[in-house]
Amino acid sequence: DYDHVLEALLNTSVDPDYLDPDSVLEERWIKEVVTRSGMKFKWAKLSESKQRINRDAHPRPPADPSSLVSRPPVVTIMGHVDHGKTTLLDSLRKSQIVSTEAGGITQHIGAFLVQLPTGEKITFLDTPGHAAFSAMRARGANATDIVVLVVAADDGVMNQTVESIQHARRAKVPIIVAVNKCDKPQADPQRVKRELLAHNVICEEFGGDVQTIHVSALKGDNLLALAEATVALAEVLELKAEPSGFTEGIIIESRTDKGKGPVTTAIVQRGMLRRGCVLVAGKSWAKVRLLFDENGRAVNEAGPSSAVEVVGWKELPSAGEVILEVESEQRAREVVEWRSSEEEQQKLQEEQSAIEVKQKVHLEEYRRERAELSHLSWRQRKAALYQANKTKFSMRPSERTQDNQLRLPLIIKGDVDGSVEAMLNVLDSYDAQQQCELEVVHFGIGDISENDVNMAETFAGSIYGFNVGASRVVQQLAAKRGVPLRLHSVIYKLIDQLKDELSSKLPPLE
Ligand code: GDP
Repeated sequence: DYDHVLEALLNTSVDPDYLDPDSVLEERWIKEVVTRSGMKFKWAKLSESKQRINRDAHPRPPADPSSLVSRPPVVTIMGHVDHGKTTLLDSLRKSQIVSTEAGGITQHIGAFLVQLPTGEKITFLDTPGHAAFSAMRARGANATDIVVLVVAADDGVMNQTVESIQHARRAKVPIIVAVNKCDKPQADPQRVKRELLAHNVICEEFGGDVQTIHVSALKGDNLLALAEATVALAEVLELKAEPSGFTEGIIIESRTDKGKGPVTTAIVQRGMLRRGCVLVAGKSWAKVRLLFDENGRAVNEAGPSSAVEVVGWKELPSAGEVILEVESEQRAREVVEWRSSEEEQQKLQEEQSAIEVKQKVHLEEYRRERAELSHLSWRQRKAALYQANKTKFSMRPSERTQDNQLRLPLIIKGDVDGSVEAMLNVLDSYDAQQQCELEVVHFGIGDISENDVNMAETFAGSIYGFNVGASRVVQQLAAKRGVPLRLHSVIYKLIDQLKDELSSKLPPLE
């Protein structure tokens, strides 16, 4: 249906540069349409972006859900200074619930494993909460599934308690509260819980879903209950990962060891990390020479959610960097060379500033439009909007926000920068035309994740994905939460659907 394609192209600001580089059929189609219409597009960019994708390393496509197995939760302990984070980590490490193999000496590698008497495992990150967490978030990565928020019962909610809550919330990581120092005579756990209410952390006894455990890190009281609460939450989260295949992970610590050279601790997130495999992280690569667990024992492999010390890096990568396995040393060298190349650096910088400019323009335009319309009543505004559009639209009343601004919150995911960018371009043009507030609450590269669904639910928005997948778990979650999840591999179909959704939100003339 050439006319259809042509119309879609004409109606959008999308360059076909960004269409699926592997879809020959699609390319042929669009080319034909473009030729017929006499439009000029920059075809050169297509091969350029294709080349770029091929030169970098990327995560594998999502696994078949049937191949996923449960994995232990990875937990970060956060909280205000002096509230007992270090003490809690120490006593967890020393307590009987810790799995220390006979004869092993627990050494600090940035994380350790706790095993309950019932067999369940928990990986605790023991790097100072904020720093590690922020480093990861800055790179869009996150190794944490659960945050244990430590609040001293004799001190209550303080600055960094609030910051920790915000960090966790932004990363969409659920919280368990450990009310600490309950052994102190002046301890007042009830006060802590009441104070947390003000920050929307609602404990179970107040009808919320945040588990709260009274502990004494110093005396080791109630640590098992804390571990059990963590395991219970992990079950609800249904944490899963692929146990085999090329590995992916995150660096949580890195240091240079006199004997071993550059050493990192990694949390494995996917696949099996083995001795001898070739990894890239940031601008460094490794042929894994040795792996050590937290007992200082050499291991041959490490599966999802385990923390392991990796020896064999050519240079020291930073904490927060994402680890990807590649097929050969040759390939690793290519990727690192590409990532270090001026060309790529410039590209990344350009992209970053383009995004920043776009976001700024977007916001300014939106503010101006809103200011222009703000003196009108809702009814007048609706009429004005209608006049601007001259089409019959319908809108469900529930979709109005409190200030009667039409809005459609969106989460945009694409397979490569180019496709995300293309979608953002389209959205920009629509935003200006249709005066429906398009709120891109999140965008990024990669498959639709549970986080995306959570975010969409929070903002009552829709998810649009181009050339990305969604595991069955994620799809079910979206269905359960009533989150519209729209996946396309042909950009004009995606745009059509987005147009429909936008139109359905614009008001009818009364
Ligand atoms: P961090 O800054 O959050 O890591 O806090 P620390 O673990 O360093 O603890 C600060 C102080 O509180 C230390 O003097 C600890 O001994 C003390 N402390 C930690 N947990 C407890 C506890 O459960 N009970 C009592 N009484 N003191 C504690």
